[in-house]
Amino acid sequence: MEAMPENSTPTTATAALPLPRDGIAGDAPYGAPQLEVEHALNVNENPYGPSPALAEHIGRAAAEAAVGLNRYPDREALALRADLGQYLAAESAISAPAPEAVWAANGSNEIMHQLLLAYGGPGRTALGFTPHYSMYPEYARDTYTTWVTAERGAPPEFALTVEAVTAAIAAHRPHIVVLTSPNNPTGTALALDVVDAAATALAETRGLLVVDEAYGEFRRDGVPSALTLLEKHPNLVVTRTMSKAFALAGARLGYLVAAPTIVDTVRVVRLPYHLSAITQAVARAALAHRDELLGKVALLRAERDALAEHLSARSHAVAPSDANFILFRTFADRDAVFEALLQRSVLVRAVGPTGWLRVSVGTPENNAAFRTALEEADPR
Ligand SMILES: *Cc1c(COP(=O)(O)O)cnc(C)c1O
Repeated sequence: MEAMPENSTPTTATAALPLPRDGIAGDAPYGAPQLEVEHALNVNENPYGPSPALAEHIGRAAAEAAVGLNRYPDREALALRADLGQYLAAESAISAPAPEAVWAANGSNEIMHQLLLAYGGPGRTALGFTPHYSMYPEYARDTYTTWVTAERGAPPEFALTVEAVTAAIAAHRPHIVVLTSPNNPTGTALALDVVDAAATALAETRGLLVVDEAYGEFRRDGVPSALTLLEKHPNLVVTRTMSKAFALAGARLGYLVAAPTIVDTVRVVRLPYHLSAITQAVARAALAHRDELLGKVALLRAERDALAEHLSARSHAVAPSDANFILFRTFADRDAVFEALLQRSVLVRAVGPTGWLRVSVGTPENNAAFRTALEEADPR
Protein backbone atom coordinates (compact mmCIF):
# COMPACT_ATOMS: atom_id res chain seq x y z
CA MET A 1 0.00 0.00 0.00
CA GLU A 2 1.22 3.50 -0.79
CA ALA A 3 1.87 5.85 2.06
CA MET A 4 -0.64 8.65 2.34
CA PRO A 5 0.81 12.11 1.64
CA GLU A 6 1.09 13.99 4.88
CA ASN A 7 -1.34 16.75 3.99
CA SER A 8 -4.08 14.51 2.53
CA THR A 9 -7.55 14.57 4.04
CA PRO A 10 -9.05 11.22 5.05
CA THR A 11 -12.03 10.38 2.87
CA THR A 12 -14.15 9.36 5.85
CA ALA A 13 -14.73 11.91 8.56
CA THR A 14 -13.50 10.47 11.85
CA ALA A 15 -16.71 11.60 13.52
CA ALA A 16 -18.74 9.27 11.30
CA LEU A 17 -16.80 6.14 12.28
CA PRO A 18 -18.66 3.72 14.51
CA LEU A 19 -17.42 3.69 18.08
CA PRO A 20 -16.17 0.32 19.41
CA ARG A 21 -17.25 -0.64 22.91
CA ASP A 22 -15.23 0.22 26.00
CA GLY A 23 -12.16 -1.93 26.37
CA ILE A 24 -11.80 -2.49 22.62
CA ALA A 25 -11.32 1.04 21.29
CA GLY A 26 -7.65 1.77 20.77
CA ASP A 27 -6.48 -1.79 21.47
CA ALA A 28 -4.17 -3.42 18.94
CA PRO A 29 -4.72 -7.03 17.87
CA TYR A 30 -2.45 -9.43 19.71
CA GLY A 31 0.34 -11.24 17.91
CA ALA A 32 4.06 -11.74 17.82
CA PRO A 33 5.74 -10.31 14.71
CA GLN A 34 5.66 -12.77 11.78
CA LEU A 35 9.01 -11.87 10.23
CA GLU A 36 10.91 -13.67 7.49
CA VAL A 37 13.99 -14.93 9.31
CA GLU A 38 16.21 -17.98 9.05
CA HIS A 39 15.71 -18.96 12.67
CA ALA A 40 12.19 -18.23 13.96
CA LEU A 41 12.53 -19.01 17.65
CA ASN A 42 9.83 -16.70 18.95
CA VAL A 43 6.45 -18.50 19.12
CA ASN A 44 7.40 -21.95 20.44
CA GLU A 45 6.48 -23.77 17.25
CA ASN A 46 7.77 -27.24 16.63
CA PRO A 47 10.52 -26.77 14.02
CA TYR A 48 9.82 -30.16 12.40
CA GLY A 49 6.98 -30.26 9.89
CA PRO A 50 5.24 -33.44 8.77
CA SER A 51 7.15 -35.73 6.41
CA PRO A 52 6.07 -35.68 2.75
CA ALA A 53 4.32 -39.03 3.30
CA LEU A 54 2.35 -37.73 6.25
CA ALA A 55 1.58 -34.47 4.47
CA GLU A 56 0.13 -36.61 1.71
CA HIS A 57 -2.01 -38.57 4.18
CA ILE A 58 -3.28 -35.35 5.67
CA GLY A 59 -4.01 -34.05 2.19
CA ARG A 60 -5.93 -37.20 1.33
CA ALA A 61 -8.01 -36.87 4.50
CA ALA A 62 -8.80 -33.28 3.55
CA ALA A 63 -9.72 -34.35 0.01
CA GLU A 64 -12.10 -37.01 1.34
CA ALA A 65 -13.76 -34.42 3.57
CA ALA A 66 -13.92 -32.00 0.65
CA VAL A 67 -16.52 -34.01 -1.27
CA GLY A 68 -18.93 -33.47 1.63
CA LEU A 69 -18.34 -29.75 2.00
CA ASN A 70 -21.84 -28.88 0.83
CA ARG A 71 -22.98 -30.16 4.25
CA TYR A 72 -22.25 -28.64 7.64
CA PRO A 73 -19.65 -30.57 9.65
CA ASP A 74 -20.45 -32.87 12.59
CA ARG A 75 -20.94 -30.10 15.10
CA GLU A 76 -20.22 -32.44 18.00
CA ALA A 77 -16.98 -33.73 16.43
CA LEU A 78 -17.50 -36.95 18.36
CA ALA A 79 -15.10 -39.12 16.36
CA LEU A 80 -12.31 -36.60 16.86
CA ARG A 81 -13.11 -36.26 20.56
CA ALA A 82 -12.90 -40.04 20.93
CA ASP A 83 -9.52 -40.08 19.18
CA LEU A 84 -8.21 -37.32 21.45
CA GLY A 85 -9.33 -39.25 24.53
CA GLN A 86 -7.47 -42.34 23.29
CA TYR A 87 -4.34 -40.31 22.68
CA LEU A 88 -4.36 -38.80 26.17
CA ALA A 89 -4.85 -42.18 27.80
CA ALA A 90 -1.58 -43.33 26.27
CA GLU A 91 0.25 -40.04 26.80
CA SER A 92 -0.53 -39.56 30.48
CA ALA A 93 -1.26 -43.12 31.62
CA ILE A 94 -4.88 -42.38 32.54
CA SER A 95 -7.96 -44.33 31.56
CA ALA A 96 -9.30 -42.92 28.31
CA PRO A 97 -11.68 -40.01 28.87
CA ALA A 98 -15.06 -40.59 27.21
CA PRO A 99 -15.77 -38.43 24.12
CA GLU A 100 -18.31 -36.57 26.30
CA ALA A 101 -15.46 -35.51 28.60
CA VAL A 102 -13.40 -34.05 25.75
CA TRP A 103 -14.10 -30.89 23.76
CA ALA A 104 -12.24 -29.56 20.72
CA ALA A 105 -12.00 -26.15 19.07
CA ASN A 106 -9.84 -24.05 16.76
CA GLY A 107 -6.73 -23.99 18.93
CA SER A 108 -6.66 -23.91 22.68
CA ASN A 109 -7.08 -20.16 22.32
CA GLU A 110 -10.67 -20.78 21.25
CA ILE A 111 -11.06 -23.34 24.05
CA MET A 112 -10.01 -20.73 26.63
CA HIS A 113 -12.26 -18.13 25.02
CA GLN A 114 -15.20 -20.51 25.30
CA LEU A 115 -14.37 -21.31 28.93
CA LEU A 116 -14.32 -17.61 29.81
CA LEU A 117 -17.57 -17.08 27.90
CA ALA A 118 -19.23 -19.84 29.86
CA TYR A 119 -17.75 -19.33 33.32
CA GLY A 120 -16.64 -15.67 33.27
CA GLY A 121 -18.69 -12.64 32.39
CA PRO A 122 -19.79 -9.34 33.94
CA GLY A 123 -19.26 -9.26 37.70
CA ARG A 124 -17.02 -12.31 37.54
CA THR A 125 -13.29 -12.55 38.13
CA ALA A 126 -10.54 -14.71 36.70
CA LEU A 127 -7.16 -15.05 38.41
CA GLY A 128 -3.78 -15.77 36.85
CA PHE A 129 -0.17 -15.65 38.03
CA THR A 130 2.43 -13.37 36.45
CA PRO A 131 4.42 -13.68 34.32
CA HIS A 132 1.73 -15.46 32.28
CA TYR A 133 0.70 -16.05 28.67
CA SER A 134 -0.19 -12.71 27.06
CA MET A 135 -3.57 -13.84 25.77
CA TYR A 136 -5.27 -14.46 29.12
CA PRO A 137 -6.22 -10.80 29.78
CA GLU A 138 -7.60 -10.60 26.24
CA TYR A 139 -10.02 -13.51 26.73
CA ALA A 140 -11.13 -11.74 29.92
CA ARG A 141 -11.57 -8.41 28.12
CA ASP A 142 -13.60 -10.02 25.33
CA THR A 143 -15.94 -11.70 27.81
CA TYR A 144 -16.26 -8.75 30.24
CA THR A 145 -14.52 -10.79 32.90
CA THR A 146 -12.30 -8.99 35.42
CA TRP A 147 -8.73 -10.24 35.14
CA VAL A 148 -6.70 -10.17 38.35
CA THR A 149 -3.20 -11.44 38.99
CA ALA A 150 -0.85 -12.53 41.74
CA GLU A 151 2.87 -12.98 41.27
CA ARG A 152 4.79 -16.17 40.81
CA GLY A 153 7.84 -16.64 43.05
CA ALA A 154 11.21 -15.00 42.52
CA PRO A 155 13.34 -15.68 39.45
CA PRO A 156 14.91 -17.81 38.21
CA GLU A 157 12.53 -20.48 39.59
CA PHE A 158 9.27 -18.51 39.20
CA ALA A 159 7.76 -21.16 41.47
CA LEU A 160 4.13 -21.39 42.47
CA THR A 161 3.44 -22.85 45.88
CA VAL A 162 0.33 -24.15 47.59
CA GLU A 163 0.54 -21.20 50.01
CA ALA A 164 0.79 -18.57 47.25
CA VAL A 165 -2.07 -20.03 45.24
CA THR A 166 -4.46 -20.54 48.12
CA ALA A 167 -3.67 -17.07 49.52
CA ALA A 168 -4.43 -15.47 46.14
CA ILE A 169 -7.69 -17.43 45.88
CA ALA A 170 -8.68 -16.34 49.38
CA ALA A 171 -7.83 -12.71 48.58
CA HIS A 172 -9.61 -12.47 45.21
CA ARG A 173 -12.34 -15.08 45.51
CA PRO A 174 -12.18 -15.67 41.75
CA HIS A 175 -14.74 -17.58 39.69
CA ILE A 176 -11.96 -18.95 37.50
CA VAL A 177 -8.29 -19.66 38.18
CA VAL A 178 -5.92 -20.25 35.29
CA LEU A 179 -2.76 -22.21 36.09
CA THR A 180 -0.33 -22.90 33.29
CA SER A 181 1.88 -25.96 33.44
CA PRO A 182 4.48 -25.80 32.03
CA ASN A 183 4.06 -22.05 32.26
CA ASN A 184 4.61 -19.69 29.35
CA PRO A 185 6.93 -17.70 29.37
CA THR A 186 8.85 -19.25 32.28
CA GLY A 187 8.72 -22.97 31.40
CA THR A 188 7.86 -23.89 34.99
CA ALA A 189 5.81 -27.04 35.60
CA LEU A 190 3.49 -27.25 38.59
CA ALA A 191 3.62 -29.80 41.35
CA LEU A 192 0.33 -31.70 41.62
CA ASP A 193 -0.21 -30.58 45.20
CA VAL A 194 -0.61 -27.01 43.92
CA VAL A 195 -3.28 -28.04 41.41
CA ASP A 196 -4.95 -30.17 44.06
CA ALA A 197 -5.01 -27.34 46.61
CA ALA A 198 -6.33 -24.83 44.07
CA ALA A 199 -9.16 -27.15 42.99
CA THR A 200 -10.08 -27.83 46.61
CA ALA A 201 -10.06 -24.14 47.53
CA LEU A 202 -12.17 -23.24 44.50
CA ALA A 203 -14.69 -25.99 45.16
CA GLU A 204 -15.82 -24.06 48.26
CA THR A 205 -17.09 -21.23 46.05
CA ARG A 206 -18.04 -23.45 43.12
CA GLY A 207 -15.22 -21.92 41.07
CA LEU A 208 -13.52 -23.42 38.02
CA LEU A 209 -9.85 -24.38 37.80
CA VAL A 210 -8.29 -24.38 34.34
CA VAL A 211 -4.85 -25.94 33.92
CA ASP A 212 -3.38 -24.92 30.57
CA GLU A 213 -1.05 -27.72 29.50
CA ALA A 214 -0.21 -26.41 26.04
CA TYR A 215 3.36 -27.67 26.54
CA GLY A 216 2.45 -30.78 28.53
CA GLU A 217 4.22 -33.28 26.27
CA PHE A 218 7.58 -31.54 26.80
CA ARG A 219 7.61 -32.00 30.57
CA ARG A 220 10.60 -33.77 32.06
CA ASP A 221 10.45 -37.40 33.19
CA GLY A 222 8.56 -37.85 36.41
CA VAL A 223 6.63 -34.56 36.11
CA PRO A 224 2.94 -35.47 36.32
CA SER A 225 0.03 -34.05 34.31
CA ALA A 226 -3.02 -32.49 35.95
CA LEU A 227 -5.00 -35.00 33.87
CA THR A 228 -4.37 -37.48 36.68
CA LEU A 229 -6.44 -35.30 39.04
CA LEU A 230 -9.54 -35.07 36.84
CA GLU A 231 -11.34 -37.93 38.53
CA LYS A 232 -10.84 -36.35 41.92
CA HIS A 233 -11.92 -32.81 41.04
CA PRO A 234 -15.15 -32.15 39.15
CA ASN A 235 -14.24 -28.43 38.88
CA LEU A 236 -10.97 -29.08 37.02
CA VAL A 237 -10.41 -28.51 33.30
CA VAL A 238 -7.15 -29.45 31.57
CA THR A 239 -6.50 -27.86 28.19
CA ARG A 240 -4.11 -29.17 25.56
CA THR A 241 -3.21 -28.27 21.98
CA MET A 242 -1.86 -29.90 18.85
CA SER A 243 0.05 -26.68 18.08
CA LYS A 244 3.28 -27.35 19.97
CA ALA A 245 4.48 -30.91 20.60
CA PHE A 246 2.20 -32.21 17.85
CA ALA A 247 3.76 -29.89 15.26
CA LEU A 248 0.37 -28.83 13.95
CA ALA A 249 0.08 -25.12 14.75
CA GLY A 250 -1.14 -24.39 11.24
CA ALA A 251 -4.14 -26.72 11.53
CA ARG A 252 -5.60 -25.00 14.62
CA LEU A 253 -6.73 -27.72 16.99
CA GLY A 254 -6.97 -27.33 20.75
CA TYR A 255 -8.98 -29.33 23.25
CA LEU A 256 -9.97 -29.75 26.85
CA VAL A 257 -10.75 -32.62 29.18
CA ALA A 258 -13.20 -32.14 32.05
CA ALA A 259 -16.31 -33.55 33.62
CA PRO A 260 -19.03 -33.95 30.92
CA THR A 261 -21.18 -31.30 32.67
CA ILE A 262 -18.44 -28.73 32.04
CA VAL A 263 -18.20 -29.81 28.41
CA ASP A 264 -21.98 -29.45 28.12
CA THR A 265 -21.80 -25.92 29.50
CA VAL A 266 -19.10 -24.98 27.00
CA ARG A 267 -21.26 -26.44 24.21
CA VAL A 268 -23.90 -23.84 25.07
CA VAL A 269 -21.63 -20.93 24.11
CA ARG A 270 -19.81 -22.43 21.13
CA LEU A 271 -20.76 -21.11 17.72
CA PRO A 272 -22.64 -23.64 15.62
CA TYR A 273 -20.32 -25.74 13.44
CA HIS A 274 -17.27 -23.96 14.87
CA LEU A 275 -14.89 -26.77 13.86
CA SER A 276 -14.75 -27.25 10.10
CA ALA A 277 -14.98 -30.67 8.48
CA ILE A 278 -11.49 -30.09 7.08
CA THR A 279 -10.04 -29.34 10.52
CA GLN A 280 -11.67 -32.43 12.01
CA ALA A 281 -10.41 -34.66 9.21
CA VAL A 282 -6.90 -33.23 9.32
CA ALA A 283 -6.69 -33.55 13.11
CA ARG A 284 -7.86 -37.17 12.99
CA ALA A 285 -5.33 -38.01 10.27
CA ALA A 286 -2.59 -36.37 12.33
CA LEU A 287 -3.64 -38.27 15.46
CA ALA A 288 -3.44 -41.52 13.53
CA HIS A 289 0.21 -40.67 12.84
CA ARG A 290 1.05 -39.37 16.26
CA ASP A 291 4.23 -41.43 16.50
CA GLU A 292 5.74 -39.47 13.65
CA LEU A 293 4.43 -36.08 14.71
CA LEU A 294 5.51 -36.52 18.30
CA GLY A 295 8.71 -38.26 17.26
CA LYS A 296 10.86 -35.19 17.67
CA VAL A 297 9.67 -34.32 21.17
CA ALA A 298 12.46 -36.36 22.80
CA LEU A 299 15.05 -34.64 20.65
CA LEU A 300 13.62 -31.21 21.46
CA ARG A 301 13.68 -31.99 25.18
CA ALA A 302 17.33 -33.04 24.95
CA GLU A 303 18.17 -29.90 22.95
CA ARG A 304 16.33 -27.82 25.54
CA ASP A 305 18.36 -29.26 28.40
CA ALA A 306 21.61 -28.76 26.48
CA LEU A 307 20.68 -25.17 25.64
CA ALA A 308 19.80 -24.43 29.27
CA GLU A 309 23.20 -25.75 30.34
CA HIS A 310 24.92 -23.67 27.71
CA LEU A 311 23.16 -20.51 28.86
CA SER A 312 23.98 -21.23 32.49
CA ALA A 313 27.61 -21.78 31.55
CA ARG A 314 27.55 -18.32 29.97
CA SER A 315 26.33 -17.11 33.40
CA HIS A 316 22.83 -16.15 32.33
CA ALA A 317 20.14 -16.72 34.92
CA VAL A 318 18.00 -19.50 33.42
CA ALA A 319 14.46 -20.47 34.42
CA PRO A 320 14.25 -24.29 34.72
CA SER A 321 12.11 -25.38 31.76
CA ASP A 322 9.70 -28.25 31.18
CA ALA A 323 8.62 -26.72 27.87
CA ASN A 324 10.13 -26.25 24.40
CA PHE A 325 11.53 -22.81 25.20
CA ILE A 326 13.86 -21.20 27.71
CA LEU A 327 13.53 -17.89 29.52
CA PHE A 328 16.94 -16.44 30.34
CA ARG A 329 18.28 -13.15 31.61
CA THR A 330 20.55 -11.12 29.38
CA PHE A 331 21.61 -8.73 32.19
CA ALA A 332 22.24 -5.91 29.73
CA ASP A 333 19.64 -4.11 27.63
CA ARG A 334 17.41 -6.94 26.41
CA ASP A 335 16.06 -4.94 23.48
CA ALA A 336 19.60 -4.34 22.23
CA VAL A 337 20.33 -8.08 22.44
CA PHE A 338 17.01 -8.87 20.75
CA GLU A 339 17.87 -6.51 17.87
CA ALA A 340 21.41 -7.82 17.52
CA LEU A 341 20.05 -11.37 17.31
CA LEU A 342 17.50 -10.30 14.72
CA GLN A 343 20.25 -8.75 12.61
CA ARG A 344 21.72 -12.25 12.53
CA SER A 345 18.35 -13.66 11.40
CA VAL A 346 17.54 -15.14 14.81
CA LEU A 347 14.14 -14.08 16.10
CA VAL A 348 13.45 -14.56 19.82
CA ARG A 349 10.80 -13.04 22.09
CA ALA A 350 11.12 -10.15 24.52
CA VAL A 351 8.70 -11.35 27.19
CA GLY A 352 8.87 -11.93 30.92
CA PRO A 353 10.43 -9.56 33.42
CA THR A 354 12.64 -6.70 32.22
CA GLY A 355 16.02 -7.99 31.13
CA TRP A 356 14.82 -11.49 30.20
CA LEU A 357 14.39 -13.03 26.75
CA ARG A 358 12.63 -16.21 25.69
CA VAL A 359 14.04 -18.50 23.01
CA SER A 360 12.14 -21.43 21.51
CA VAL A 361 14.06 -24.66 21.06
CA GLY A 362 14.56 -25.33 17.36
CA THR A 363 16.47 -27.84 15.28
CA PRO A 364 20.13 -28.42 16.24
CA GLU A 365 21.00 -26.02 13.37
CA ASN A 366 18.64 -23.34 14.72
CA ASN A 367 20.03 -23.74 18.21
CA ALA A 368 23.63 -23.57 17.01
CA ALA A 369 22.81 -20.40 15.05
CA PHE A 370 21.23 -18.93 18.17
CA ARG A 371 24.32 -19.72 20.26
CA THR A 372 26.66 -18.14 17.74
CA ALA A 373 24.45 -15.08 17.33
CA LEU A 374 24.18 -14.65 21.09
CA GLU A 375 27.95 -14.92 21.43
CA GLU A 376 28.27 -11.97 19.03
CA ALA A 377 25.28 -10.01 20.31
CA ASP A 378 26.25 -10.36 23.96
CA PRO A 379 29.93 -11.36 24.25
CA ARG A 380 31.06 -12.35 27.72
C1 LIG B 1 0.88 -21.65 22.47
C2 LIG B 1 0.00 -21.61 23.66
C3 LIG B 1 -1.31 -22.05 23.56
C4 LIG B 1 -1.81 -22.71 22.30
O1 LIG B 1 -2.51 -21.96 21.47
P1 LIG B 1 -3.26 -22.64 20.24
O2 LIG B 1 -4.42 -21.73 20.09
O3 LIG B 1 -3.65 -24.01 20.62
O4 LIG B 1 -2.30 -22.60 19.10
C5 LIG B 1 -2.10 -22.07 24.71
N1 LIG B 1 -1.61 -21.67 25.88
C6 LIG B 1 -0.35 -21.25 26.01
C7 LIG B 1 0.15 -20.86 27.35
C8 LIG B 1 0.49 -21.19 24.90
O5 LIG B 1 1.73 -20.74 25.03
